[in-house]
Amino acid sequence: MVQIVIVGAGPTGVTLALLLVKRGITVTLIEATKDFHRVFRGEGLMPSGLEALEEMGVSALLKDIPHRQLDAWEFIIGNKQLFQVDEPMGATQPCTLVSQPLLLKALISSAQTNDGFEFIQGLPVKDLLWSNQRVAGVTLSDGREFAADLVIGADGRNSLVRQRVGLELVRQPKNIDILWFKLAASPEFAENNVFRTILNGDRAFTIFHGAESGKLHLAWIMSATENTDSKQANWAEIFASLSPSWLAEYFRNHADTIESPIRLSVVVGYCPQWHAPGVLLLGDAAHPMSPVRVQGINLAFRDVIVAANHLVPLLHKKTGHQDIDIALSRIQAEREPEIIRAQQLQLEEAKQGELLRKNALVRSLLIQLAPLLRKPIKKSWLKRQYKMRQGITQVHLTV
Ligand SMILES: Cc1cc2nc3c(=O)[nH]c(=O)nc-3n(C[C@H](O)[C@H](O)[C@H](O)COP(=O)(O)OP(=O)(O)OC[C@H]3O[C@@H](n4cnc5c(N)ncnc54)[C@H](O)[C@@H]3O)c2cc1C
Repeated sequence: MVQIVIVGAGPTGVTLALLLVKRGITVTLIEATKDFHRVFRGEGLMPSGLEALEEMGVSALLKDIPHRQLDAWEFIIGNKQLFQVDEPMGATQPCTLVSQPLLLKALISSAQTNDGFEFIQGLPVKDLLWSNQRVAGVTLSDGREFAADLVIGADGRNSLVRQRVGLELVRQPKNIDILWFKLAASPEFAENNVFRTILNGDRAFTIFHGAESGKLHLAWIMSATENTDSKQANWAEIFASLSPSWLAEYFRNHADTIESPIRLSVVVGYCPQWHAPGVLLLGDAAHPMSPVRVQGINLAFRDVIVAANHLVPLLHKKTGHQDIDIALSRIQAEREPEIIRAQQLQLEEAKQGELLRKNALVRSLLIQLAPLLRKPIKKSWLKRQYKMRQGITQVHLTV
């Protein structure tokens, strides 16, 4: 019997486990944390991610999970609207915010209805097992060992699997961190859920209604080197001072609902090689994504589909380890063009934001010339979005 061990039950690990066990392959999925309710997990699914869930045959699960569609994207600079674009921007479905903990739980429950699935939660993988210079399994923190024909490193951006196997991660320079706030949402925010990016002076933040009922999410963008005493600051007043009057009034009236923020460090990078004998990295372990235009989960789902297409036929044939290892390089080759392009597009968008944040002259020209520049800026933004929304290469589940 072929045995697969997947390290990490984030979007990558859980969906791959489900696809494999549904196809009769024995999988052990190991997750370090005790439950999925860590303070922050990304929620934004682009049309490409929603389509990937459809291809996997699990989109029906969404109806029982808190989720909320976006109605539009709006950019406000110096208190004036630069432009607004309505969803779904030519796609068949709009960008949708989905509660990730509940989605992961539902996917695990679905995997558990199949034979050959084992889920170990609350224990991290501590090391890899080796046999003849090939990875042959994992060791858990309690000392238990799990042999595997293939180990999948789906353990996120700080991947232990990546480190233990010695695969390099080339990191983009670290520019920004995010302070993530939640505050009460009045019903109008839910009725017309606009993802607003607000830039005023050298400060910027985004605000939208999350998947959870009655909660606005606010991402405050800051330099990675900046030290803010987030507990002392009067955030309602800070947000209000940067916002158009109607939103400023909202912040002031709902000041007492602003929850203490968490600081999220943004790591972006790419592994020149995603695999070694007996190991494949997928999702953030192979290519940690920036939060810009919510790409990471969507790309992770698409990695999983491509990996399943290549691996399932081989695993059914109970092929030798050498053939499995050859397939790993094909998986990387198929995914690489999309990942590299998506990271470039994210970087372009981040650089434009940084230029506006840091250069007062450019900012003031843009504000003054907004009536003239609105159309071309909107057009060029839309052009970049298409690929980040629909995906760059063709990805379809064939097994
Ligand atoms: C601020 C911010 C906001 C974002 N928002 C979005 C968004 O809205 N939409 C979007 O598409 N992307 C978003 N992203 C990117 C997205 O979060 C990642 O790309 C995505 O989570 C990658 O999924 P993954 O399963 O590969 O890794 P992860 O989600 O990081 O999951 C890895 C899992 O492995 C587990 N693990 C780690 N080490 C071990 C170990 N040794 N043993 C066992 N388990 C282990 C972890 O506990 C974790 O559950 C955002 C990123 C940031 C920084």
